[in-house]
Amino acid sequence: MKKPLLLFLILATICTSSSNAQQVNIDGRLKPLLDNFFELCKSYNIEYNDKLFALKKIAVVDDLNTSQRGSTLGMLQRDEFKNVENIVVNWIAMLDPEILRVVAFHEFGHYFLEYDTHVCDDCGIIMSVVNSSYFEIANDWENQIKILFEQSPVYLRNQNSIATKVAQAYPMN
Ligand SMILES: [Zn+2]
Repeated sequence: MKKPLLLFLILATICTSSSNAQQVNIDGRLKPLLDNFFELCKSYNIEYNDKLFALKKIAVVDDLNTSQRGSTLGMLQRDEFKNVENIVVNWIAMLDPEILRVVAFHEFGHYFLEYDTHVCDDCGIIMSVVNSSYFEIANDWENQIKILFEQSPVYLRNQNSIATKVAQAYPMN
């Protein structure tokens, strides 16, 4: 008599997770960059699905602070419980595809690669606070990606847990 109930529970779980999946609204202008970013996550064995489906939207918006002295090019927006719900990019970043790519990867880095803080103020890498030269980063893209992923908190944590498992499997005497 237990089987039908179990089946029902499994079905209910599948339905809930697929309805969650539909709620992530991904802006078509950021979609190719996001796909590219996820390909890189796969190659570095970084899980991104659960984080993706916890979001409401990933979008280009026109309501971020924009001024001559400095604009907010992108940010993570949080709900009242401090959970990230949106990844947004300022529309002015779209004026140049290279800037858009750096800004998008910077924000994806904060969220998917778990960079809670910036690496430096203005040191010419994707996770610095500001970037005086987006073009230097764009011209050094392959290397920039390597730094972004290999020095990310989530990647370093994975490496550590692999090292721990290996050490447990092959204890040194
Ligand atoms: Zn940032």
